[in-house]
Amino acid sequence: MNIVLKNTFTNELPEDPISENTRRQVEKACYSYVVPKKTSNPQLIHTSPEMAKNLGFTSEDLKSTKFLNIITGNEIIENSKPYAMCYGGHQFGNWAGQLGDGRAINLGEILYDDKKWALQLKGAGETPYSRTADGLAVLRSSIREYLCSEAMYHLGIPTTRALSIALSGDKVLRDVLYNGNPDYEKGAIVSRVAPSFLRFGSYEIFSSRQDYKTLKNLVDYTIKNFYPQIKSTSKEAYIAFFKEVTERTLEMIIHWQRVGFVHGVMNTDNMSILGLTIDFGPYGWLEGFDDGWTPNTTDRQHKRYRYGNQGNVGLWNLYQLANALYPLIEDAEPLEEILESYKNDYSMRYLNMMKSKIGLFTNQDSDNELLNTLEEVLQLTETDMTIFFRKISSIKKTDDTDACLNSIQEAFYQPKELKGEIRTLWINWFSDYLKRLSGENYTDTERQEKMNAVNPKYVLRNYMAQLAIDKADEGDYSLIETFFELLKKPYSEQPLHNDWFAKRPEWARNKVGCSMLSCSS
Ligand code: AMP
Ligand code: MG
Repeated sequence: MNIVLKNTFTNELPEDPISENTRRQVEKACYSYVVPKKTSNPQLIHTSPEMAKNLGFTSEDLKSTKFLNIITGNEIIENSKPYAMCYGGHQFGNWAGQLGDGRAINLGEILYDDKKWALQLKGAGETPYSRTADGLAVLRSSIREYLCSEAMYHLGIPTTRALSIALSGDKVLRDVLYNGNPDYEKGAIVSRVAPSFLRFGSYEIFSSRQDYKTLKNLVDYTIKNFYPQIKSTSKEAYIAFFKEVTERTLEMIIHWQRVGFVHGVMNTDNMSILGLTIDFGPYGWLEGFDDGWTPNTTDRQHKRYRYGNQGNVGLWNLYQLANALYPLIEDAEPLEEILESYKNDYSMRYLNMMKSKIGLFTNQDSDNELLNTLEEVLQLTETDMTIFFRKISSIKKTDDTDACLNSIQEAFYQPKELKGEIRTLWINWFSDYLKRLSGENYTDTERQEKMNAVNPKYVLRNYMAQLAIDKADEGDYSLIETFFELLKKPYSEQPLHNDWFAKRPEWARNKVGCSMLSCSS
């Protein structure tokens, strides 16, 4: 096993001078060196062959004890000094102060094939940032992160990746619903990978402490290593940097809306500076299309992080980043301009994205209204988002409205409700849609192909993840493998897997883990 490390983060940025692993405020430093906890009985569950290849691990490597030991924190890569990163964050709208890698430990940056990848273990033990928690992760949340981050990648959505998932062999105490019923669960460790795990909160922490020297260090480092097209370290460069982060964040959220992904905890410590989907916690996938849906029970009251609010929250988070960067720029106007343009850009990009989902590729003034109405009718009776958008591609220009409704029939959870006014509203919408389709140039087949490339047939439905978890808890990892393979080709028909192109079964409607998730992980 030949691992080449090139640790830009620890080489170029200030370290915490204190080496004891005690919980504390870490000042004027971007990270603390820390050694992962040894685990009692590490056991590999799954590895991502795609990610392994990116990092230069051979299939022999993946089978070795050394690999298992490395990705469970039981052996340190030669010449590596693992570390936890310092960051802060706004949680649910409030400044939370120092957070940091409370249970994620970076092993270093692997250089392979001219690319650098930071490799991080999630659930590898306490760090100075663990606050009141144990630094560990449980099997269920680890499976959810492992499967979903790779699935996001294959959906074409910017995301952190995963290399492996393993059991630690240790038990971890968790109160899943925070209702006074703690229980022991299996501990697990995901090794995850990204060019960088820097977050908005990584910058906010220094600004909040008025430590502008470290702030500038970190911003210059970020630009040099991850935004190399920005050449200088001037005020203009920082504005250009903020603009680029804004664009990437916007693009990521538009993708989330396209596939019905609800992140669940869009706190600024969970917003990647590279515009990657990061920190897969109580996320969920829309089943019935519903603007107001959030999978996160912790957010049930205000639904700050609901599906229909992700675009707004992205902007709110960018305001916090702008505030953090302001001391380096000392000019609010250009930052405000960028934030202001986010609103228009978002509406425009959102409209184009939604149009592509229903096969409209030319422009007409009425398009916005057609889509607004669609979002309304989709919510008249519970309508499965994935099935609806996949099925609507089979409609032909020569169909009548009844045929249209037939094509998407499978998407309705309560087909019996499709009568009276609800039915009329659907028929009216299809009638407008068919008129609009006649103005499109593509043939039915061409249009279907284009639509199927933006409307996935398979996503990691909430109950699917839970099924994989329930089996894995009994030591059967077959569904992890099944879903891992299935979700590599989310836009392909894969007729052998048609069973997973189905509405959420009734038993999963109100089941913990399927529709209700907490931050407990
Ligand atoms: P999250 O909401 O999962 O993004 O986590 C927010 C903060 O809590 C981050 O600083 C995490 O590192 C920290 N955290 C979450 N779970 C644990 C844990 N079990 N042990 C230590 N820190 C944790
Ligand atoms: Mg987090």
